[in-house]
Amino acid sequence: MIATPTLPLEAATPAHICPFDQACSYLEAAAKELRLDQGLLEILSHPRKVVTVSIPVKLDNGEVRVLAGHRVQHSDVLGPYKGGIRYHPAVTLREVSALAMLMTWKCALLGIPYGGAKGGIAIAPEHYSVRELERITRRYTSELIKDIGPSVDIPAPDMGTSAREMAWMMDTYSVNVGHAVPGVVTGKPLSVGGSLGREKATGRGTMIIVREALADQGKSLEGIRVVIQGFGNVGGAAAELLHQAGAKVIAVSTATGGVFSSDGLDIPALKAYAAENHKSVIGFPQSTPISNAELLILPCDVLIPAALENQITEENVHQIQAQIIAEAANGPVTLEANLALEARGVIVLPDILANAGGVVVSYLEWVQGLSYLFWDEERVNREMEHLMVQAYRQVIQQSKVRHVPLRLAAYTLGVGRVAQALNDRGLYP
Ligand code: NAD
Repeated sequence: MIATPTLPLEAATPAHICPFDQACSYLEAAAKELRLDQGLLEILSHPRKVVTVSIPVKLDNGEVRVLAGHRVQHSDVLGPYKGGIRYHPAVTLREVSALAMLMTWKCALLGIPYGGAKGGIAIAPEHYSVRELERITRRYTSELIKDIGPSVDIPAPDMGTSAREMAWMMDTYSVNVGHAVPGVVTGKPLSVGGSLGREKATGRGTMIIVREALADQGKSLEGIRVVIQGFGNVGGAAAELLHQAGAKVIAVSTATGGVFSSDGLDIPALKAYAAENHKSVIGFPQSTPISNAELLILPCDVLIPAALENQITEENVHQIQAQIIAEAANGPVTLEANLALEARGVIVLPDILANAGGVVVSYLEWVQGLSYLFWDEERVNREMEHLMVQAYRQVIQQSKVRHVPLRLAAYTLGVGRVAQALNDRGLYP
C-alpha cells in the first residue's frame, strides 16, 4: 500500500469513483507487477508541485467574482511538464491531480520527452461571455507565470478550452516576459505557431488505435458499428474520421443528450447541425433521440466514451454490450467496471494509449516551433501515426509477455520508464 499522498485535497468523492484514488490504484498495480521499490512508488504517487491560485475577475455586469485555478505538476523526470487546461464545473484539485499523473504515464508510454501536468478552473464556460473568458484565462496565466514556460511546463487545450484560450495564454505569457514565446503552449492557432493536424489529433489517435485493435481480430473499420459519447473536440473528430474510414457511427451525444440511427448517422451533416445549434445534436433529422445512459448500453462493436470520467461504473457495466471500448476521455471507466469488463473479455483500450494522439501532436508542434520549421499536415499525421502504432504494438507485446490486460500492460510500460529514469537520475540531494 502507498501512503495517502500529502496533498491539500478537498474531501474525496466516494472512494470508488475518486479519480485520484483510482489513478493511485492503477499505479500501485503497475508497481506490484514491476516489483518496484517502495521508495520509488512513494515518489511517483506524489505530485511534485501543486499550485492553486485565486482568479479575481470583473464580470461584464461589473460584479467581481473570485475563482480558484489549479495547476498540478506531477513529474518532470523525463522532460518539461505537459498537460491540458480544463474548464468544467466538476473540476477539483483531486481530479486535476489524477489527470496530471495520467499525463506522466501517457508521455512515457508514447516515448515523448515530457513529464505530466494538468490544470483547471471549476467553471461552466458557456455561462461566461467571450470577454469574461479572456479575462479569466489571462489572469490565470498571469498567476502561473513563474510555473509555466517552454522548458518548464507547457499547457494545452482540454475539456472546455481550445486554440482560442491557448492564444490568450501565449499572448499573456509573452507580454509578461517581454518577447513572443510560442512554445509556452501547444494547441495554438496556426497564426501563432500551431501545428497542422493538432485540432483533430486526439480523435485521429483514437481512430488509429481502434483500427489496430480491429485489425488484430482480422476486421477492418468498414461497417463497424460505433457509439460515441461526447461530440466535442475529441468525440467530434473521432466520429468524423471513423465515418470517413467506412465505420457506421450509430449514436453520438453531448451533455444535453444524444441521437441514434441504426443505419449510421451522416456525421458531416451532424457536425454542421451541431455548429448551428449551440453544439447540441438534439433534433437532428433522420435520427431518434437517446439519453446518455441509453447510449452507453447500445448494442455496438466499439464504444468510445469521449466526455467525462466515471461514465461506465458498477451500476451500468453489466449492461454494456460493446466488444471494444476505446477510452478517448480520461478515466471514463471506473476501477470496478474495468475489472468486470476485463473478466468478460471486453477489450478496453486504455486512455493513456487511446487518447494520446493529442499530446503526440502537441509534442510535434513544440518540436516544429523550437526548430522554426513547419511541416505539412500529411507529415504531422504520418509522424503521429508512427508513434501511436508503435505504442499500441508495445502494449500488445507487453500484455502477452506479462499475461496482463491492456491497461496494466500500458501502465507497466509508462510507469516502468519513469521509474527507470528516476532511478538513473538518482535522488537529490
Ligand atoms: P470538449 O469540451 O471539446 O467536448 C466535450 C464533449 O463532451 C461535449 O460534446 C460535451 O457536451 C460532452 N459532455 C460533457 N458532459 C457530458 C455528459 N455528462 N454526458 C455526455 N456528454 C457530455 O472536450 P474534449 O477536448 O473533446 O475532451 C473530452 C475528453 O477527452 C476529456 O476527458 C479530455 O480530458 C479528453 N482528452 C482531450 C484531449 C484534447 O486534445 N482535447 C486530449 C486527451 C484527452
